Amino acid sequence: MPHSPPQVIRSIPDLRQIIAAARRAGRRIGVVPTMGALHAGHLSLVAAAERECDLVVVTIFVNPTQFGPNEDFQKYPRTLDNDLALLSAHRVDIVFTPSTEAMYPSGAATMVEVTGAAEPWEGECRPGHFRGVATIVLKLFNLTQPDVAYFGRKDLQQTLVVRQMIRDLDVPVELKVCPTVREPDGLAMSSRNAYLSADYRRAALVLSRALFHGAEMVRGGEHDAARVLGAMHSIVATEPQVKLEYLAIVDPVTMAEVRQIDSLAYAVVAARVGATRLIDNEPLGE
Ligand code: AMP
Repeated sequence: MPHSPPQVIRSIPDLRQIIAAARRAGRRIGVVPTMGALHAGHLSLVAAAERECDLVVVTIFVNPTQFGPNEDFQKYPRTLDNDLALLSAHRVDIVFTPSTEAMYPSGAATMVEVTGAAEPWEGECRPGHFRGVATIVLKLFNLTQPDVAYFGRKDLQQTLVVRQMIRDLDVPVELKVCPTVREPDGLAMSSRNAYLSADYRRAALVLSRALFHGAEMVRGGEHDAARVLGAMHSIVATEPQVKLEYLAIVDPVTMAEVRQIDSLAYAVVAARVGATRLIDNEPLGE
C-alpha cells in the first residue's frame, strides 16, 4: 500500500511545532536516528516504529562530532533522494534532516560524555566518537521528544552508551534495539559497504563467518572464550586484506571481556578492509 510521502523538515522551529502538536494530541512518537544512505537495516527500525507508534520521525544527519579528524565525514555517502524513495514504502510522517549549522550553531559548547561501557573497543579506536554520538542523540531526543527510540544491534556498544545516557540523565524515552540485518551472504548491512570494491567485499565476509562460527561453537557446548576466540582468529587470518582492530567476547552490559561464556555474551569485531572500517557482532550463548 502506498503511503503519503513524509514531510521533509530542515528547520528546528518547524520541527518543534509539529512535535508539540503531536504531543498535545497524545500521539505516540517513535524516532529512528540515522546518518542516511539508508539500507534494509535502517528500514527494519523504521518498520518497527511504524508498527508501534502513531508518529514516525526518521532523522538523517551526518553528525560531524562523531567522526575523528582522519575519518570519512567528508566522503560519507549522502543520498537523500534515494533515502526518501526507500522510506516511501513505509508510513513515515517526518524526515528531519537539519544542516550542520542548525545542529551546531557557533558558540555551542556542551557535549555529553559517557564513561564505563563507552571506553573500550570503539571508544579506544575512535577517541571522541561516543561523545559525539551521545551529544547528537540527546539533541535529537530533545528535538523530537519521542516515546520510543529505535537503534540497531549492529552498533552494539552504541546501544549501551545510549542506554547509559538515558538512565543517567533521566531522559524520558524507551530504547528499542532491533536485530542486525545482513546481506544473504552474511555481511552486516552498513552504509559503509558502499565503499567496498568487489574484492574487498568478498574478503570482508570472513568477519561474519568468524562470528557465526563462534556462535556455532558455543551452541555446541564450548564455553571457553579463549578457545572460541582462537577459532575466530584463524578464520579472519585466512584473509590478509582484512586487518583486525579488535576481536573480543564481551559482557552485553559492561562491554568487559569475559573468559567463560556462561550466559549471554557478544563476539564483537572491528576491522579495516582496505580503507574501509567495518564493525559487526553476534550474540553467543543464551
Ligand atoms: P547509521 O546511519 O549507520 O548511524 O545507523 C542508524 C541506525 O541504524 C543505528 O541505530 C544503527 O545501529 C542501525 N543500523 C545500521 N546498520 C544496521 C543493520 N545492518 N541492521 C540493523 N540496524 C542497523
